[in-house]
Amino acid sequence: MNAPHRALPDAEPSFQSHPTKGSILKIPCRCGALIVDSTDQLSHKAHLMPDQSRFVALDAIDEQVIDPIADGKLSKDDAYMRARSIFQASTRTMWQCRSCGRLFINAQDGSLHCFAPEDANTDKDILALDMSQ
Ligand SMILES: [Zn+2]
Repeated sequence: MNAPHRALPDAEPSFQSHPTKGSILKIPCRCGALIVDSTDQLSHKAHLMPDQSRFVALDAIDEQVIDPIADGKLSKDDAYMRARSIFQASTRTMWQCRSCGRLFINAQDGSLHCFAPEDANTDKDILALDMSQ
C-alpha cells in the first residue's frame, strides 16, 4: 500500500536554474569569482532532493512510469521522459564557488540563497564526484 501522494512542485522555478541550450548561467560570488554553468556534468553543481520529496518522487516513478510500462500503457521513450520529468520536478539546483566554498542553493520559489563556509579549510569540491571510489 502506497502512502498518500502530494503533488510534485512545478518543474521550472522562476530562477533560471537550468540554462537553456546555448545559454550560460553566471552567478557572481561575493568573493569576486564567477560561477559559470554552461554545460552538463559540472563538478561544482549538484541537484538537491529534499527528504520531503523523496518518497513522493519514488511513488511517482512507481505509478507514472513502472506500472504503466508493466501494463503496456507507456512506451519506453515516454517512460524515459516521464522519469526525467519526475526527477527534475523533485530536485533543486545548487552550485559551489570553487574559490571560497560558498554554496548557492535554489529555494522552492526559485530564489537563490548563499551559504558561507565556517572556515577557509572547507572542501571547495564538496559537490564533485570522487572518481577514485
Ligand atoms: Zn566565492
